[in-house]
Formats: sequence, structure tokens, C-alpha cells
Amino acid sequence: MLSIRAHAKINLSLDIIGKRPDGYHDLSSVMQSIRLHDEVTLRSQKEITVRCDLRFLPCDNRNIAWKAARLFMDELQTDDGIGIQIKKHIPVGGGLGGGSADAAAVLMGLNRMYGFPVTFDRLLQLGLACGADVPFCMTGGTCLAEGLGERLMPLPSMPHCHILLLRPRFSLSTKKMFGLVDVKKIKHHPDTRGLINALNNRDAEGVTVRMFNCLEAFAPRLEIREYKQLLLDEGAKAALMTGSGSVVYGIFSSFEKAASAKERFSAMGLRPCLTAPVPSIF
Ligand code: ATP
Repeated sequence: MLSIRAHAKINLSLDIIGKRPDGYHDLSSVMQSIRLHDEVTLRSQKEITVRCDLRFLPCDNRNIAWKAARLFMDELQTDDGIGIQIKKHIPVGGGLGGGSADAAAVLMGLNRMYGFPVTFDRLLQLGLACGADVPFCMTGGTCLAEGLGERLMPLPSMPHCHILLLRPRFSLSTKKMFGLVDVKKIKHHPDTRGLINALNNRDAEGVTVRMFNCLEAFAPRLEIREYKQLLLDEGAKAALMTGSGSVVYGIFSSFEKAASAKERFSAMGLRPCLTAPVPSIF
């Protein structure tokens, strides 16, 4: 039996470079692992099965963790199975890469259980076949992700801070969000180079002033802007939608400020979650 933490991610920046002939978008995004995680437990057994504490999630071959296990077993050309138990803490459809994190945990966990038969590079390819964010979730920490998400460049972790997540009552499907994107209508792009320089210089303010997500301009719900404003009003240094949403997060330098904002949001009936960056995972 093996238990693994499957860490969520936030996008400190997300730029859309263009649309590819295959319909996908070329991206350039600085991603950061955060403390919030699902718990994934693997047990040897005859078949591949998934059990999850969230009833509405599919537990069959539609679950990305199941797909990851299938790909791994096929790679080894074995009929072995694995029992996958997932305790979800990462909100689903929030842009926090929860499904991707679970798939990454399964691939990394299985490779460990089998004595590392698959190279990390090959494991990254299997991850990419599960989803664009899976290679980052296997690498963790802070990275510039380019292309579909498969070209990863590790970066120094963002300076220590407190991250307050606000989860709207609706979720945004990644596919639908990218369907709304019109590349010609993108007026502003993040200063990705400047953001990377700020990370290299451990310049916290340089990081927060450069946080920017191109997808926000296409978000179909007003709440995204309202939630960002709520976070800024509570003293967040920056507030941003993560990935394709719907979760919005604020960066706080003071724990007290973040904790009191969390209390206020809870009293308003919102669903805040206080977390922090993690410099490395696995
Ligand atoms: P990303 O930021 O990687 O695009 P997300 O955080 O917006 O993803 P997820 O929480 O990963 O979204 O879920 C997206 C969809 O994937 C959901 O509709 C869900 O039904 C499906 N799904 C399949 N397997 C899982 C899993 N193990 N955990 C969460 N969602 C899963």
C-alpha cells in the first residue's frame, strides 16, 4: 500500500500564444504547486478500480486516475490491476488541476511500487497523454510550462506568502473556456519574462505586480471580477483566476490579514481556503 499527496496548482501567469491547427492553444504559463492536496492511496489487486469520496465523480475509465493506471500497466505490458482510493480536497473544475494531480500521483506512485521501471521522461509522456497539466503535477514546485504544458522549465519557488482561495458556486469547464477564446481579441499579455526575473531575484512585489491570466477576459461570469475585488479589498497584494477558473485566489504577505479575510468570507457564506506555495512535491 502506498499513500501519496496529490498537490493542487495555481497559475501565477497564463498567456495564450496562439491557436494550433489541431484546435488546441499554445500556452505559456508560470505554475506553482500549493499545499492543498488530495490523498491518493494505491493497493495492489487484480483489476484497476477507483474509489472516491465525491459521489458525483465517475469512478470508471472516465476518471483520469484510472486512465493513468491503465497507461502505466500498458507500458509495462502487464495485466496487473491497482486499487486507487481518492480523498478529494481540491475543488473539482476550479482550475486547480485536481484531476491532473491525481493522475500524476498514480503514475509516480505506481512507478515507485514497481521499482522505477519507467524513466521520468517517459512517465512525463504518459502524463501528457492523460492531460496537459499532468506533466507539471509530476514535476511540481514552480515551473514555466509552454506548448500544451509539456515543455517545463523549473524556476525558483515564489517567495513565501499566504494564498486565499475563493471558490464560486459554479465551475468552469476547461474545454468550454478555451472554446470562448478568440486569440485576436487578446489585448493584454502577461510579462512572463519579468515574472521569471522577479522569481529569480526573490522579489515578492515584482511577482505580484506581474501576475496576469489572459483567460479572465473571456470568463463568462461577473463573479470572477467581483471575487477578485473582494480579495483586493481585504488587502491581497494581487488577485487572479487560476487556470480556466472558476477559483480565484489572493496573495497575502501577512498571515493575520489572510486569516481575518478568510473569517469574513466564511461569514458571508463564501467558501475560502487558506493555503501556501510548496517549493517541491513528491
Ligand atoms: P485543470 O486546471 O487541470 O484544467 P480543473 O481543476 O479545472 O482542471 P478538475 O478538478 O481536474 O478541473 O476536473 C475537471 C473534470 O475532470 C471534471 O469534470 C471531472 O468530472 C473530471 N475528472 C475525472 N477524474 C477526476 C479526478 N480524479 N478528480 C477530479 N476531476 C476528475
